[in-house]
Amino acid sequence: MKTGIHPQYYDECQVTCACGHTFVTGSTVPKIKVEICAACHPFFTGQAKFVDSEGRIERFERKRKAAAALRQKKKKVFKKKADKKKKKADKKK
Ligand SMILES: [Zn+2]
Repeated sequence: MKTGIHPQYYDECQVTCACGHTFVTGSTVPKIKVEICAACHPFFTGQAKFVDSEGRIERFERKRKAAAALRQKKKKVFKKKADKKKKKADKKK
């Protein structure tokens, strides 16, 4: 090995997951923090779990609710317009 060009190597790097699971590996850093690991990833657990660390799902749900409310509003407006047209048509008769 050439001297002076290789980083410090840690044989016992502690990897800590957000789920609490820890394991030891080799790395150039002494400690690693991860959000997901083999103990809690849905691929390995077989359970449905959303990997959402930035609140994207929450934001999407909020937008969906707002869109649904808007749709309801529009429906009411259309219904009012349709009722008016009907009334006009009835008057002509
Ligand atoms: Zn984990």
